[in-house]
Amino acid sequence: MTRSAWSLVVLLVAAVLVAAVAWVRAEGDAPAIAAPESFSLGKLPRALAVDLSDQGSGLRTASVTLSHAKGEAVVAQRSFSGNPLSGGGPATASLEASLDPEALGLAEGDAFLIVEARDWSWRGMLRGNLATTRIPVSVDLSPPRISVRSGLTYVRRGGAALVVYRTSEEPARDGVRVGDRHYDGIPWPAACPEGDAGCRIALFALDVDDGSDTAIRVVAEDAAGNVASARFDARVQERQTPRVPIRLSQRFLEGKIADLSDAWDLDPGDRVAAFRTINEERRRQDEARIRELVARSQRQPLWQGAFRQLYNSKVTSLFAERRVYTVDGEAVSKATHYGYDLASTAGAPITASNAGRVLFAGNLGIYGDTVLIDHGLGVVSLYGHLSIIEAKEGESVTRDQVIGRTGATGLAGGDHLHFAILVGDTYVDPREWWDARWVREHISVRMNP
Ligand SMILES: [Zn+2]
Repeated sequence: MTRSAWSLVVLLVAAVLVAAVAWVRAEGDAPAIAAPESFSLGKLPRALAVDLSDQGSGLRTASVTLSHAKGEAVVAQRSFSGNPLSGGGPATASLEASLDPEALGLAEGDAFLIVEARDWSWRGMLRGNLATTRIPVSVDLSPPRISVRSGLTYVRRGGAALVVYRTSEEPARDGVRVGDRHYDGIPWPAACPEGDAGCRIALFALDVDDGSDTAIRVVAEDAAGNVASARFDARVQERQTPRVPIRLSQRFLEGKIADLSDAWDLDPGDRVAAFRTINEERRRQDEARIRELVARSQRQPLWQGAFRQLYNSKVTSLFAERRVYTVDGEAVSKATHYGYDLASTAGAPITASNAGRVLFAGNLGIYGDTVLIDHGLGVVSLYGHLSIIEAKEGESVTRDQVIGRTGATGLAGGDHLHFAILVGDTYVDPREWWDARWVREHISVRMNP
């Protein structure tokens, strides 16, 4: 071949190579933007997170711009390293914007967030492929207004109460806050005489161990995160919590505690240490499990009227006893008794204390074979130490329906029923719920005046 022919071949090969590179580098796939479909902004600053990706040439720049009635502002911006020749930007990245309505001078109403991202492609006159997403923003700077409708509310320490209130807008979350515990509210138009739609109720409880300065208030939060709270006239009635010494017999330590130690792999050499582990650590785990179950309580009330105490039973131990366990006159452990112990004949039938749905039926550690019944609105009854369970999870039960037989499973010294009632996370005195007058005056009349 002649020299000019060779030059032609070299030129052609070079042209093909340039064309190939150009074809790759001028890819037309714009970056992908993953962002919320809509965004609501309240009085407090709120963060927006956007995920970006580009598999072709990699990401080059990204920005978030807020467009509102009074103008535009860039609220986040990033540039990513790479180069025009080979691309080489990151395949994924995220962009975070903090939106402060006050600093941005936002007024209530509608606005938009515009997210833009470019890649390192040669397209767009070498500026890259452009992706754009528009997110509608609603700006709501006013918290809901709360007006408490029920009057003076009495609540006993270790007891429950119901409050009626109205909110000016449909809240995203509302209820009663007691210290740092939250009790959900639900819409309940019947509780307000005018029957209006903003009427709501919440059942709450004061824990036996709540301090005397524990704040009780109605709270409501809207979709934009604006929070309102309202105090109401709540009178706390005190409760006696008698100290009850319980002697641990050798028979109990070598019988029940030996059995539980075997079942739960505890040191067989030290029965007292095993008792302490069961009474303290195991109790903590079981109580945490109960709280997980209670959190699934359905919002609508299922109970009707007063709850029923176990038929023909004798109370052998009261709510809120401060138990101190002793061995040879020495205190080895303690626990508060958050229920009633009811003794009948051995293997006596246990009935549902009110209508509800079986939330749990199975073994629950120190409570042995246990049934939990959900009565709705956070009210749950617990039946422990059963010898036989005659209820199925998910089953609806009526008051007085048989759900099992008394026994001594779990940490029980003899055949009895441990009966407890929880309102949300809190154990309350079942005596209130057994009392038809208390239920009528403190709960029913408030729900349906
Ligand atoms: Zn008990």
